Amino acid sequence: MATTNTTPAAPSYPAQVTGMDILVRALKMVGIDTMYGLVGIPVTELAYLAQGRGIRFISFRHEQQAGMAAATHGYVTGKPGVLLTVSSLGFMNGLTATANATVNCYPMIQISGSSVREPIDLEQGTYEGLDQLNIAKPVVKAAYRVNKPEDIPTAVVRAYRAAISGRPGGVYLDVTTPCLGAIMNHDDAEKLFYQPVDLQPSMPPAQEAVKRAVELIASAKKPCFLFGKGAAFAQVEGKLKKLVEMTGIPYYPMSMAKGILPDNGPLSVISCRSTIMEDADVVVLVGARLNWLLSRGHGKWSPDTKFVQLDIDPTEIDCNRPIAAPVIGDLASSLDAIIDLLPQYKLEMDSQWVPSLQKESAEKNEKFKERLSANASVNPMDHWTALGAIKPILESNPDVILVNEGANTLDDTRDSIDMSLPRHRIDCATWAIMGMGIGSAIGAAVGTGKSVVAIEGDSAFGFSGMDFSTICRFKLPVTVVIFNNGGIYNGVGVNMGKDGDPAPTTLDVRARYDKLADAFGAKSYYVTTPQELTAALTEAIASKAPALIDVQLGADSGKESGHIGYLNPTPLETITV
Ligand code: ADP
Ligand code: MG
Repeated sequence: MATTNTTPAAPSYPAQVTGMDILVRALKMVGIDTMYGLVGIPVTELAYLAQGRGIRFISFRHEQQAGMAAATHGYVTGKPGVLLTVSSLGFMNGLTATANATVNCYPMIQISGSSVREPIDLEQGTYEGLDQLNIAKPVVKAAYRVNKPEDIPTAVVRAYRAAISGRPGGVYLDVTTPCLGAIMNHDDAEKLFYQPVDLQPSMPPAQEAVKRAVELIASAKKPCFLFGKGAAFAQVEGKLKKLVEMTGIPYYPMSMAKGILPDNGPLSVISCRSTIMEDADVVVLVGARLNWLLSRGHGKWSPDTKFVQLDIDPTEIDCNRPIAAPVIGDLASSLDAIIDLLPQYKLEMDSQWVPSLQKESAEKNEKFKERLSANASVNPMDHWTALGAIKPILESNPDVILVNEGANTLDDTRDSIDMSLPRHRIDCATWAIMGMGIGSAIGAAVGTGKSVVAIEGDSAFGFSGMDFSTICRFKLPVTVVIFNNGGIYNGVGVNMGKDGDPAPTTLDVRARYDKLADAFGAKSYYVTTPQELTAALTEAIASKAPALIDVQLGADSGKESGHIGYLNPTPLETITV
């Protein structure tokens, strides 16, 4: 019998893709080009795939910092930043940042791998088993879980829309291990993708609300605009410039709203906070909440002040004090509507209002200058000595983004450094948290391509110091400036017991943080005089490369809680043991 020796044709299988392929493709479909995260089971291959397919992956040493970076990326770019975490603790570490993003109205999406559901639900003990979805829910704007690869594109679009629509915030997207690994036919998966329409819809205000607001603004004798970081995020600086120019009404910026219009512009009343609170008859809140940072509308505020509030979230209105003219809509649309209607009204602003504020500003600014120069030769340096050296350098490099955290380091830097561009100051924000600095500096540098200077208290830096290595690995143009006074608030705390341990606030005033930069190959500086600081910071910014400056302050520089010592339940001086 004749034998055939032809090999049979290999069977042909349809091309297949995994849940991870679909997730990467879905992220690209909504325009995500960068992810921040820290990998491990079950998301390592996901990060490899993303990187291989053109999504930049910035790998961190701690998820919380990756999350701070994603949140800041969202704030500076106006598109959600993306954080990738592993299950259980990685998820929890990242969730801190997602919660903080929600409080600050920063758009971000935390995508976390999670373990197999069934043994989690039956509490049978499984690898990194945690009911992540339900843990996330109370602290984020929205939370979703995706269990099937077919649902991934929908899940990504829903997460994106939730993060960016209305009041922006942090969104949690749980992707189970089986879903990441599930296999689908390529051709079936292809049919899942689509181009979502109008991912960030405008939400114009009602015309009668605009009219009510314009009438109130026009009738005001002593009006003032108050800008919040919502206005910085919404990128409405052009419209605000126009509004201020056409009305001559002065403006006061909240911390991260500094620079929307120049802090040192002729109509800036940044130095007249108390006068605005006490004397302004109409205050127009533009993307700013009347929360604790504004005494919740009480304290120094005159009970007669009337508020116009421009916000996207109707539930914000009246939450602390009655709002006379709420304008609910996205800021770009609301400001356009106000700018259109305002010329039909005659402004009744008191002709002495602005000159009196300008006089007060000039006097206060002069006093502030004297304070900086009076401390110029303090040895060892205090916060003001250091800031006197830093101020002219940052103000002549307005394009450098300033990240800032600490207690005294935060308050004194905010008061010292005038900003002249929007979204160039990023700080502890609404929760006044510590441990946002290095992550935010990375997110700001990656999101904008600009140089960043992070001015950090030594305690604040400690929360995230190891991610200085991330700055180095990605060769980012970030200079970290550490104000080392050896402690939380300062380094002169005294242990009230007898065990000889450091006091609760005491760190290490002799610590050489510059050596940490040496470990990762960055340019490092240790400075003890303002002259050395000037030279170091000038060189570091010009290098556009990672750098760290350890600024040696005296241990006695700084007071408990900086400007918000009144929030402590009892003063330290009254404690007895
Ligand atoms: P700040 O701390 O600078 O005062 P807040 O974070 O307290 O600023 O307030 C920001 C406000 O801006 C929030 O109430 C938020 O709803 C609002 N907001 C954010 N984005 C927009 C937008 N695009 N249009 C209108 N309001 C916005
Ligand atoms: Mg606020």
